[in-house]
Amino acid sequence: MSVIIDDTCITCDACQQNCPVNAIVNDTNNPTGEKRYYVQPEKCVECVGHFEDPQCAAICPSIGCITWDMPFTKEFDAHFLNGALYKLATKEGVAKSPAFKEKKYREDIPLELRGVGKEVQVAPEDLIEVG
Ligand code: SF4
Ligand code: SF4
Repeated sequence: MSVIIDDTCITCDACQQNCPVNAIVNDTNNPTGEKRYYVQPEKCVECVGHFEDPQCAAICPSIGCITWDMPFTKEFDAHFLNGALYKLATKEGVAKSPAFKEKKYREDIPLELRGVGKEVQVAPEDLIEVG
């Protein structure tokens, strides 16, 4: 990851419609059982190669609901194996954690600005569609 959705999600579906890599599942399919949308960290690429900022956070009407998480890299393997926050997909019984396969992440976002609950900063001009 990436980004993570908290319990202020109002299940509006906007983020799922805007994710370029189909990393978001709805509340019905949330593998943690929580009644909120869920970002699959093993799929999220922080919109790298698609957009300048996470599009899910840019479109979300519940401000602060989507926050940064740690990079999905081997250094944070144990973090993403925390079953209380994530339910990673598996392949032949092996969890698709960062040790299985790392994902792209925004290298310009320093670690001190990351962690569950750290606000995704989106420039206001990116939030406004002109014309
Ligand atoms: S940051 Fe981008 S790739 Fe990740 S869940 Fe949000 S929209 Fe999808
Ligand atoms: S856009 Fe925000 S409020 Fe809407 S479903 Fe996604 S996380 Fe929930």
